[in-house]
Amino acid sequence: MSKKVLVLPGDGIGPEITAEAVSVLERVRDKFSIDLELDHALVGGGAIDKFGVPLPDETLSKAKEVDAILLGAVGGPKWDSLDMAIRPEKGLLGLRSGLQLFGNLRPAILYPQLAEASTLKPEVVSGLDILIVRELTGGIYFGQPRGIRTLENGERQGYNTYVYSESEIRRIGRVAFEAARKRGGKLCSVDKANVLEVTVLWREIMDEMSKEYPDVELSHMYVDNAAMQLVRAPKQFDVIVTGNMFGDILSDAAAMLTGSIGMLPSASLDESGKGMYEPCHGSAPDIAGQGIANPLATILSVAMMLRYSLNEIEAADAIEVAVSQVLDSGLRTGDIYSEGCRKVSTNEMGKAVLEALA
Ligand code: NAD
Repeated sequence: MSKKVLVLPGDGIGPEITAEAVSVLERVRDKFSIDLELDHALVGGGAIDKFGVPLPDETLSKAKEVDAILLGAVGGPKWDSLDMAIRPEKGLLGLRSGLQLFGNLRPAILYPQLAEASTLKPEVVSGLDILIVRELTGGIYFGQPRGIRTLENGERQGYNTYVYSESEIRRIGRVAFEAARKRGGKLCSVDKANVLEVTVLWREIMDEMSKEYPDVELSHMYVDNAAMQLVRAPKQFDVIVTGNMFGDILSDAAAMLTGSIGMLPSASLDESGKGMYEPCHGSAPDIAGQGIANPLATILSVAMMLRYSLNEIEAADAIEVAVSQVLDSGLRTGDIYSEGCRKVSTNEMGKAVLEALA
């Protein structure tokens, strides 16, 4: 049966970078004889301009029917003065909640060729390859009750609730164990079990699940130590799994270890493995339309899509190898340029990946 992918180019540099990523997807489709159908739809500012809403019903229903979604980026100054409820970013949130994408996968990979881009010493980060698995739809960001109340003495008090049910922990655990199995076989679960009961339960469930995954080596770490270890010796990690808030903070810190936002892909998965794949960066309105954006984060998002939603591991590996070869050959877009390299456009970078795939 053919697999279906919906492409949502979005705004700003979105259309430029997704065009290159789609060419790469089409190339591996032909090379590895993958039965694949592509469709396109509008989301974000472009959808507001045409339909008055950031996530038209047609886009959401198409998104529900496919196996995976490739998204560029949304937003830009043109729509910044709109009411919060119909801003481009609401399109993304609508997709995440409408499709119940609870598992956020954020790799932080530092190609040795780009080690100089990091603010950390090259020997600490060169060759870094971590995957952070963050729970995306639960935890303290969504727990009820929440709010700001006035106490009897007249003082105001803010409060939130940190909750995770067993099934929520189990489903993100499954994503993380499966990912670790496909990578280096090591999983570190990050919690605050010395203080928070909710993470005592988190830890218990991870331990229970590890019996189903004897091939994955499970360890536990408190979040404060994890933050420290990420900047001290990040290469000790393979896969990290954690809740929504800890994951929010740790994944941004890990991304910045690499120093190059134009290189970082991401995935958000539902229970069946269906996913939305997108670069970690935004729509970069400051460089949109100039043909100079780095398409590699989006191209690497295609590799993630092939690995995690379409189960085409060979094709995913081929794209990652091709990107590394292109970097070896010294081609760089402006954001990752350093002296001695050759500066190329978005399209030249995309073409170079296609050639490396041939
Ligand atoms: P941004 O990531 O778009 O840009 C930050 C900086 O990084 C800019 O200087 C930009 O030129 C550069 N940059 C980003 N991607 C690049 C690439 N591929 N190649 C080269 N340089 C790149 O973040 P921002 O400026 O804070 O946000 C701009 C718009 O994007 C806003 O409207 C914001 O809401 C939106 N946004 C969307 C998403 C998303 O669609 N997932 C995520 C973040 C921000």
